[in-house]
Amino acid sequence: MFPFKKYFILRSIVKFFKICFLSFFFVIPMILSAEVNVYSYRQSFLVKPLFEKFTEQTGIEVNTIFASKGLIQKIQMEDRNSPADLLQTSNFTRLVEAQELGLTQSIQDSTLEEAIPNAYKDPTGNWFGLTIRARLIYASQERVKENEITYEELTTSKWNRRICSRSGKHDYNIDLIASMIAHHGVEESKLWLKGVKENLARRPQGNDRAQVKAIYAGQCNISLGNSYYFGKMMADPEQQEWARSVKLLFPNQENRGTHVNISGMAITKYAPNREDAIKLMRFLVSEDAQKIYAEVNYEFPVRKGGWRSCVV
Ligand code: FE
Repeated sequence: MFPFKKYFILRSIVKFFKICFLSFFFVIPMILSAEVNVYSYRQSFLVKPLFEKFTEQTGIEVNTIFASKGLIQKIQMEDRNSPADLLQTSNFTRLVEAQELGLTQSIQDSTLEEAIPNAYKDPTGNWFGLTIRARLIYASQERVKENEITYEELTTSKWNRRICSRSGKHDYNIDLIASMIAHHGVEESKLWLKGVKENLARRPQGNDRAQVKAIYAGQCNISLGNSYYFGKMMADPEQQEWARSVKLLFPNQENRGTHVNISGMAITKYAPNREDAIKLMRFLVSEDAQKIYAEVNYEFPVRKGGWRSCVV
């Protein structure tokens, strides 16, 4: 009996040390390692360098899921069990959608408050803007003399068969139409849409850059496009000549100003790593991060004073 008892005690001691060993090397670091889970509608090439810099500075890992659609629905389905801490979107509409579905929570944070102008954040703290993108008029250098065109003027006979556009059902155009409705009401906006449609040089097709290519090819004279695509085309050897054939016009400077959209972020309702997610939000509006947004994707920083204050 005795050797058996000795063997049993020895086994228990080995087992105890085994558990200690595993806890020390695996379990405790897992508990201690900080992380934030981001569901992002933004493209990975843009936000990954930002997250890497954040991890470098804070030691907090950032896990990501990227998708162009369905992330809000995913958070909704996962409900309380959702691992998502932060939702990142490329437009204002999705921020409001997430808020209206009750998937976000209110954050009161002085760093975010100070960095982001009121126009680009939710007054109740449920979402915050990160970057600004303007919907501009791209106009042929050669064939368009005007340097000031309003959105409203796109319906005049002057532009008959001279406008190229992507689909009116694309988010970028839907958001512009929403701004027309906000300023002019539904009936007037319907007439505006009809007028723009009648002035199209061809059936809506392609993306924003394809319209500039069409201007370069002489198929039309003006198009609507987001501001950062100019920078993207200039950075692409194949597209540089398209960009060089146009000038950028910021519509409605004499009255309400050019329509802009924002990319933004919101903390989810059940964020398991809320405090670290707030740290990530603060980082994303820092001068360092806003500079990366401007340099990598040619977007306007949302931060008050942009990022130039840190380099000039
Ligand atoms: Fe885009």
